[in-house]
Amino acid sequence: VYKVHKVHKVYKVLYEPYNFINLINEKKLRFFHWNKFSKIKPFSYFCKKENRMKKIYTLPELENMLTCQGEEENRLYSESKRIKNETIGNNVYLRGLIEISNICTKDCFYCGIRKSNTETARYALSDKEILDAADFAYTHHFGSIVLQGGERSDKAFVDRITRLLQEIKKNSNNELGVTLSLGEQTEDSYKRWKDAGAHRYLLRIETSNPELYAKIHPNNPLHSHATRLRCLESLQRCGYQTGTGVMIGLPFQTITDLANDLLFLQSMDIDMVGMGPYLEHHATPLYEYRHLLLSLQERLRLSIHMVAALRILMPDINIAATTALQAIEPAGREKALEIGANVVMPNITPTTNRTLYKLYENKPGTHEGAAESMRKLEESILKSGCKVAYGVWGDSRHFQSRTEN
Ligand code: SAH
Repeated sequence: VYKVHKVHKVYKVLYEPYNFINLINEKKLRFFHWNKFSKIKPFSYFCKKENRMKKIYTLPELENMLTCQGEEENRLYSESKRIKNETIGNNVYLRGLIEISNICTKDCFYCGIRKSNTETARYALSDKEILDAADFAYTHHFGSIVLQGGERSDKAFVDRITRLLQEIKKNSNNELGVTLSLGEQTEDSYKRWKDAGAHRYLLRIETSNPELYAKIHPNNPLHSHATRLRCLESLQRCGYQTGTGVMIGLPFQTITDLANDLLFLQSMDIDMVGMGPYLEHHATPLYEYRHLLLSLQERLRLSIHMVAALRILMPDINIAATTALQAIEPAGREKALEIGANVVMPNITPTTNRTLYKLYENKPGTHEGAAESMRKLEESILKSGCKVAYGVWGDSRHFQSRTEN
């Protein structure tokens, strides 16, 4: 009885005031662009069970989720775990991560491969190395790969990625899913890559607060928050499953910023999220603010709270247990999987180059071979109460229902 009452209450707030209007306007609404925050939505929107039961969370509620301790923290974790298991189950999907190059035209103040860091030797994997790594993922039934790298948008680069995508798809009989994480590009490049076979794209907004964004990036058009937002919208328009995310525990960042990040992810109707703790790198400008940082353990805990809160907010999206989480403590990744995450990205970059793709210090797994990391990974996924789903793309359920509408 209590459950019915609760559902009814939530449902009432969302649904009743607009019931009548919606019934009348159902036909007209087809011509409007609406999203779940529009006051008027088509009646069919409310008929879907998951929308009827959706609760809107306020900023203070989210801040509380991020800072809670003790019993409250346990309740947060068990709630996010319950929602995850009820909505998407305990499968973990693999994305073989290929770090194609650390050559970057950008100069982000936090990142170890920023253009001005002259301490790092630069590399770019050959076509063969990339295709071999993709083949490794295919033959080991990973289901999909991620091509990630420093940011370049010159024609030679865009053409090369297009060609590589076509080859990867061909070599794997179209079976391997391909996610890209290659930064800001023109909508035309995004389209070309989509046509060539990529179907998911990751572009972190880094922070939803434009003022904080300005503090951690150079002040020039190449590092504009507005452009990054526009790129995310382009990706959605091109039909990608779109992923974004933020860094957690940046200098100058507040709990309110992070709670707003969660609301941002929800309002963008994002399909996948990768977020993890900010980890300092000595050869970057932000290093001088390291005295402002939370301890590593606190950043880890805050990141796990972010994952739990996001799972509660967006039950059917894909959430990655990121490498940065694991960098603080291997158990970090396990905890994230246990309470909300459902994707891991094992590094399958050839080991000779892996040490050079150093976004932050103590990046884990930079010395071990792919077979060894796989064994460890399976072990830790089982420990978290989840199981590896081999040989499938593991698309975001959210994307499927979003595009069905
Ligand atoms: N150039 C691409 C991808 C490479 S960087 C892009 O812009 O999308 C991938 C992600 O690593 C970044 O989006 C950032 O969130 C994260 N990252 C970079 N430096 C970091 C650091 N010092 N600590 C934690 N995460 C970092």
